[in-house]
Parts: sequence; structure tokens; C-alpha cells
Amino acid sequence: MNQMAIAFSKLQSQLNKGCEYKDCFYSNCSSKVINAHSIQNNKILNKISDDGDVLGIKVKINKFGFPKPTLERIGRKKASTFLGFCNEHDTNIFKPIELYDYKIGNKEQEFLFAYRALAKEYNTKRTVKNLYEKMLSLSKEELIDLRKFCGIPIDIGLNDYKKHLKLISRGTNESIEKLESLKIPMNINLGKDKFYKIESKVIELPEEYHIAVSSLFFIEWDVEGNLINDLIYYKNIKPIFLTIFPQNQKTFIIMSYLQQHKNYFEFIDNQILNRALEKQKVIVSNMVTLYVENVYLSPIKWESLSEKEKRDYLKLYDMSLFSKPNSLLVDPKMDIFI
Ligand SMILES: [Zn+2]
Repeated sequence: MNQMAIAFSKLQSQLNKGCEYKDCFYSNCSSKVINAHSIQNNKILNKISDDGDVLGIKVKINKFGFPKPTLERIGRKKASTFLGFCNEHDTNIFKPIELYDYKIGNKEQEFLFAYRALAKEYNTKRTVKNLYEKMLSLSKEELIDLRKFCGIPIDIGLNDYKKHLKLISRGTNESIEKLESLKIPMNINLGKDKFYKIESKVIELPEEYHIAVSSLFFIEWDVEGNLINDLIYYKNIKPIFLTIFPQNQKTFIIMSYLQQHKNYFEFIDNQILNRALEKQKVIVSNMVTLYVENVYLSPIKWESLSEKEKRDYLKLYDMSLFSKPNSLLVDPKMDIFI
């Protein structure tokens, strides 16, 4: 690593320090949080790991001040963790999915996968918010340093740089508001066992693939290019919860949404589930690449891909960070079920 890179990574870790959001996601709980897994460590991450590592997306702030993903080895004990539950709630809430295999149609398990994905996403967004707030609170001298370390040309004035940081920060705040409005009802539904409030569509693949996903996101366009979520006006936003994992020689893809939104998700039946299994895999691969950050792959399986396949995956990922193409099916060859 050259001097500049060392200095930059120091600055980055300094910035990250203290930004991690720590709070138990369960209603009104103020107990001390632990490092909770959003994907089962022993059952799933273990299965796809090599020498204790899995491959995960690491998002760094690149030299233009944008978050930029890379794929890196990460210890499975740390992978997918977040400071979002106290020990008691992490242990007790998730027993039905930690201790028992998933069975298609088990409403409680499907609800819990969705609930955990929401908790993780909420925590991540709050952490990002803290990070940008910290960047915005830097003194003039520190901001000059940050701009220099990020390699931003000096002719981009500090005010413009600040404006740009503010813009990203505002986008994060909008997503947090949406997640906040899901947190309350999801906790109420959990407390009252109203698991039917989450509906799920499941794909069962007859093979164990080395991929694990736990995520929540807002799909902009369906496979045929119809608008599902208008992210410009952020009105009536409809999340999808996606969980993928291998289990007993099979791989399960669980796509969940709020029962009240079911009319908006008919495309899952009409445009995904009615196709051949191979095509379903391609569409879900596109969906994961376009929208998911909390995804883990087997390092060995990834290495076995061709350079072109690896490049295509990262390219699509990168491309979609700030604006999504107007279809869920961009690359007809994409297949991350490895
Ligand atoms: Zn708690």
C-alpha cells in the first residue's frame, strides 16, 4: 500500500469510529446490544465458508466520496453481524429459524426472516447516517483533508463538496423514515403473533448453492419494466424482503412483502415463478446484484468463475449503486447461484 492509501484507510477508520448504530430493534428495549447475525452462522455461513471465511461485499467510500463495493474475504463469525439486538431478544425471537429447518409455508419462520432483514437494514442505514453526519460536522481544515484524501480536485470548492455530502445524507434520511414506519408495525405484529401480515413466494432449487442473502429493498421496476416504487417521490413505498440460503441439498429463495401490498407483487407470480427454473435463477441473480448488499458467497466457488463472470457481476453492482436500470432483468446470463 502506498503512503496515500495508508493515510486514506486511516482516515476512513477514524471516520467510521463511533458511527456504528447500536440499539436493540425490539420495541422499547434498552438492554445492551450484542453482535447479532443476520444470517445463521452455524447452519448457513459455515456451509459456504472456506477456512472460516466467506466472501462479502465491503462498501468503502471511494475517491469521489461515493460508497463503492468490493468483494472481500470476511470471517464468518463477523459476516452479516450488526449491533441490532440485545442477547435476550436475539436468542429468543429467532429460535424458530435458528433451531429448526425452514419449511415452505411456515408463516412464523417467513415472518422472522423478513423481520431480521428489516432490523439489519435499519441498523445499516442508521450507521450510514451517522457517518455522513460526522463528515458534515468536520471543521474546514478537516474537510480540506478529507477532500484531499478522497482525491477530489481542488477546483471543486468546499461548499460544493459539502452540498454533495448533504445530498447523499438526505437520501439516507428518507430511507430511514420509511424503515422507521415499518419498524413499529413489524414489532407489533411480532408481539401479537400476526405472522400472516407478511406474505411470501418461495422458489425451491433442487441443489445446494453456496450463497446466502438476508435483505430488504425497494424494487423500482419489475421484469417487464413496470414501475413498482417511485423513489423520486418516496410515496407509498413497498419493500420486498429477500432471504436465500442452502439447506439439505436444496436452496430456498424466499421473497416476502407486506400483505397490504400484495397487489403490487403479482409480478412475482406472473413474471418470475411462471418461468423455467433456470430463468428464475437468472432473474433472482439480477435482483440480488442490483439491490442487495448483505450477500455472502463461497470464496472457493467464486474463484471457480471465469474472469468475465466476476467482472460482469461487479460491473452491474457498481452501475446500479445510484440509478437502477428500468427492468429487473438486465443481464440474461447472470447466475450467482454458484
Ligand atoms: Zn432487546
